[in-house]
Amino acid sequence: MTADRLSSDLVMRVRILIVVFAVVSAAIFAFAALASAEDVSLTCPVDGTAVTGHVVNEFHSSGVDTDFAYLGASADYYQRIIATCGTCGYSGYVEDFAPATATLPDAVKKDILRKFASRFPVSAMKPWDRYEAMALAYTWRGKPADEIANAYLRATYTMRNVKKGDALKKRERELRGEAIEHLRIAIREAKISLAQLPQATYLIGELHRRNEEYDRAVASFQDAERLIHRPEWLDKLIEKQSEKAREKRSD
Ligand SMILES: [Zn+2]
Repeated sequence: MTADRLSSDLVMRVRILIVVFAVVSAAIFAFAALASAEDVSLTCPVDGTAVTGHVVNEFHSSGVDTDFAYLGASADYYQRIIATCGTCGYSGYVEDFAPATATLPDAVKKDILRKFASRFPVSAMKPWDRYEAMALAYTWRGKPADEIANAYLRATYTMRNVKKGDALKKRERELRGEAIEHLRIAIREAKISLAQLPQATYLIGELHRRNEEYDRAVASFQDAERLIHRPEWLDKLIEKQSEKAREKRSD
């Protein structure tokens, strides 16, 4: 994918949020509702298991969080748009399954069968397991870093409002760390367009802040402030989140 192709999931989502954020960021109550979603019959490209997926035709949310997660969407939207094979744990969007476009090289299938079984409870995957499984499959498939970053990011979105013990908190930090790492690769490899660079750089800062890495958060917010093409809403967000990170740093 080249930098001027804005079709990646991450970039599209960020484009949508420019409008959404400006309009509804003041909303007090988060809500999200699916106006329409259809079941679709899919086939696992690894082992041929029948899988049910969903095509979401329309989606409403009251706004986005500071890490660009749609508000109120963790238990519904983010779990509907991903499909998972109950036999091997292969996960992806509808287009990652047959009869859409999915064809997997034998080496990738082998990796999935060998590594997923030891890493995940494949017959009872948690939503964040499913997104991590997708991120791993994307990595082995050689998909662009921005799409891998978005899969890890969405893994953390599904952990909202979930009661977390130490192990799950650690997992959340690791998944966020992977999102950061792949966002950095995506920027380095010019998978993020120049117009989206300020948002992506801000996002790295915000993910560091959420991971309690305050020096890195402040540094990324400063990087974002130096970039051109910053929308006004982003400047406000950078200022607010940067202030929070600085306060924590001086604690
Ligand atoms: Zn399968």
